[in-house]
Amino acid sequence: MTGTVFSIEEFATFDGPGIRMTVFLKGCPLRCTWCHNPEGQRAAVEYRRSPNGCTDCGACLAQGEVMPDGTKRLTEASMRACPRGLVRRCGDVYTSEALCAKILANARLLSMNGGGVTFSGGEPTAQAAFLRECLSLLGGHIHRAVQSCGYTDAATFSAILADCDYMLYDLKLIDPALHCRYCGVDNAPILRNYRSLAASGLPFVTRIPLIPGVTDTAENLEAIAALMQSCGVDYAELLPYNRMAGSKYASVLREYDPQFDTERAVASREDVFARHGIRVKIM
Ligand code: SF4
Ligand code: SF4
Repeated sequence: MTGTVFSIEEFATFDGPGIRMTVFLKGCPLRCTWCHNPEGQRAAVEYRRSPNGCTDCGACLAQGEVMPDGTKRLTEASMRACPRGLVRRCGDVYTSEALCAKILANARLLSMNGGGVTFSGGEPTAQAAFLRECLSLLGGHIHRAVQSCGYTDAATFSAILADCDYMLYDLKLIDPALHCRYCGVDNAPILRNYRSLAASGLPFVTRIPLIPGVTDTAENLEAIAALMQSCGVDYAELLPYNRMAGSKYASVLREYDPQFDTERAVASREDVFARHGIRVKIM
């Protein structure tokens, strides 16, 4: 079985316990307006250009293609056309065996540091069959974590739960209409899978991105805290908004349109969670 990986971070310290190798699988069904990994959203291999040293000669664009929706993409020919070598492929196809061999080459070192491997993305469950095969091959050899937004069907999610050792689960917006507006999909599967995760007994952490005026409002944090409390969860990690989030969009010929106010005042988060008996850590 093969899967598409758009990045591998060798020694990550924020993607689960200990020091980890984080494998970013390509493709995500969500379109969060604040996403800082736009190159991970599309499932297919694509091409990116670096702004550093670009002379704006246009050679890469001349070899690009126009998609049915009118958007432009760089191509392999764009990569060959750039005189400065600034266009790179984004997405490598691995067999599960080859990817797991690469991970296991570091297994001893990672395990000595209480770490392991984390599958992230994009959204790793979007390549569920490949993810499950990798988790299965790695079982018993290295600690396996999955970082997920939880947007997948119930059967796939429970199969992945059974195949991994730890999960990092994102909760963004509880209001369904706001979730559709800012993330592009209904959040019903996400909330359902969160409850399944909490009931499963698998060690996990809840992660909440703090997007000014969107997720970081008193109403939304209150709703997240209430959900967590109802599931018996007493700890969350809060991820501050990354002000550099838009920097990668131009590299894949997209515009960054965050649709929120980065200056807006934030909620008093610790108080909101404390009222529900939940400890928080701002990452
Ligand atoms: S990325 Fe390369 S080909 Fe494209 S405009 Fe810049 S210098 Fe020219
Ligand atoms: S779920 Fe994550 S990878 Fe997918 S669009 Fe949202 S922020 Fe980006």
